[in-house]
Amino acid sequence: MADCIFCKIAQKEIPSSLVYEDEQVVAFKDLEPQAPVHVLVIPKKHVESVLALTAEDKAMVSHILVDVVPQLARELGVDEKGFRVVTNTGAEGGQSVKHLHFHLLGGRSMQWPPG
Ligand code: 5GP
Ligand code: ZN
Repeated sequence: MADCIFCKIAQKEIPSSLVYEDEQVVAFKDLEPQAPVHVLVIPKKHVESVLALTAEDKAMVSHILVDVVPQLARELGVDEKGFRVVTNTGAEGGQSVKHLHFHLLGGRSMQWPPG
């Protein structure tokens, strides 16, 4: 997607603090961290949100949640105390970037419900 900032990050057209990369996925530090650990895990493929996922994305989504997020949580040292994985979707869900991303937040106590 030509004007998608996360596609540009995934393609290294604009810089980011990458913490993980494989064939399908990149993860990088959020520009405006909301917690001591705040990384965004995204598919390299442009998908607007969870609503745009199709059957062919099942392996990618499960790779992110089964493999990448737990590995990053361990590497970033938030696995024992706990962390949060968030996918904001649409306007009322608070989604500002229309490329599917999973926030991995940790390093502080989280409140529920979020604001
Ligand atoms: P959303 O609000 O869509 O759930 O999350 C988008 C996130 O992307 C926000 O937390 C915001 O700080 C982050 N973000 C937006 N633009 C950039 C950027 O250019 N680089 C990085 N690293 N993070 C960004
Ligand atoms: Zn994109």
